[in-house]
Amino acid sequence: MDTIAAISTPPGEGGIGVVRISGPSALHIAKRIFRGRREGMELKSHRLYHGEIVDPERGERIDEVLLAFLKGPHSYTGEDTIEIYGHGGTLVLTRVLEVALRCGARLAEPGEFTKRAFLNGRLDLSQAEAVIDVIRAKTDLSLAIAQDQLKGRLSMEIKRLKDGLTDLLAHVEAELDFPEEEDVDELSAEAIISGISEARRGIEALLATYEEGIALREGLKVVILGRPNAGKSSLLNALLMEERAIVTPIPGTTRDVIEEVLDIKGVPVRLMDTAGLREAKDEVESIGLRFTRERMEAADLILYVIDGSGRVDEDLEVLRGIKKRVIVVINKEDLIDEVRLRELEALFWGYKRVVTSALYGRGIDGLKDAIYREVVRHPGRTEVIITRERHKVCLEEALQALSRGEEVLNKRLPREFLASELRIALDRLGRITGEVTTEEILDRIFSHFCVGK
Ligand code: GDP
Repeated sequence: MDTIAAISTPPGEGGIGVVRISGPSALHIAKRIFRGRREGMELKSHRLYHGEIVDPERGERIDEVLLAFLKGPHSYTGEDTIEIYGHGGTLVLTRVLEVALRCGARLAEPGEFTKRAFLNGRLDLSQAEAVIDVIRAKTDLSLAIAQDQLKGRLSMEIKRLKDGLTDLLAHVEAELDFPEEEDVDELSAEAIISGISEARRGIEALLATYEEGIALREGLKVVILGRPNAGKSSLLNALLMEERAIVTPIPGTTRDVIEEVLDIKGVPVRLMDTAGLREAKDEVESIGLRFTRERMEAADLILYVIDGSGRVDEDLEVLRGIKKRVIVVINKEDLIDEVRLRELEALFWGYKRVVTSALYGRGIDGLKDAIYREVVRHPGRTEVIITRERHKVCLEEALQALSRGEEVLNKRLPREFLASELRIALDRLGRITGEVTTEEILDRIFSHFCVGK
């Protein structure tokens, strides 16, 4: 294993900045570049030392710092680690990093510290994934789920499911190995079926949380649609006015895409293409132009705004063509009377509806409730949640293997086939926590990390 180094704090100016070095030569490098206040002092683990970073070749002082030595395995990566707390400027930190690299470290790849934590058994794979989720979390609810996963709640649930299946497999295999032996208590087909269906129920319960989990982790992609002048921009402004938007550049895109994330009762809501909504304001827009298919495709939820004071037959037609989840926003409530409102309610019967006046900021809370309920089906629940497509695929494959296992029993096929399906199910569950993994999977997971984490 070589020794890696990186600036672990984000680029820009800050009070302090951290350079992290991890690997077998970390301590050696620290001894070369760090001059403590007391000459020749030994660096003990988990202590903080005051001193300076110097260029060992030129003797030049680079920065005054605090330094910590975290001896493996009691460090984030599980390896010997040096953390240098310097002044938080890009140039000064880069110079500290440079001397560390010159003394034998290699520049760390994105996520490589966490990858090492995984490889050294400090975290399992689902926990490593949660590290980035904690960093990226935009709302309390998303953060709570990420912290749960980091603590190992998902891992524990997977372990519980695996334990059950392992027992089952052990029995089936014992039967295969020693069919004659008396003391191998043969599990009846019913007992095996009930074991399998218990595992199925556990897996299905996890799968049922996926939609909510992914919305809370990635944000719910919401598109506001409607005919010109229905009040889309006004509605957007009303939403933005009440909630501070967290504006984040989307990493990995070359275009300078800015997206606004609203925190709606803990649900991160990504308002898509809002720039388009603003720019297109003064243009003559036709509904066909507005209705680009891509916008629809990408959305998780559509807020379809109608002008309650106008004609709505065209809206009804458009709505019929929408195959996504929709909330119909009956806007301009201030311009209509009871009778008209009841008429509209009847016309849009069957759709989820909210009545608003974007102009006067009325009904916005109701709209937020409706959005929240689209995501969080069981408020205040405490069960384990899955948050990634990767988890979902593994669980689905495990489930399929179990179904095939049941078929083996039902059709009275040889028990070897059952054992092999159980092994597949165990393998897929093991992939979630990373007991079974490939370099390719690891690369894909850790490449999403930031450098220095
Ligand atoms: P967009 O084309 O769908 O984005 O519609 P706008 O938000 O630009 O609104 C079109 C016009 O309707 C503007 O003059 C708004 O002030 C007005 N408007 C929007 N919402 C309401 C509302 O709830 N009540 C009333 N009376 N007028 C509204």
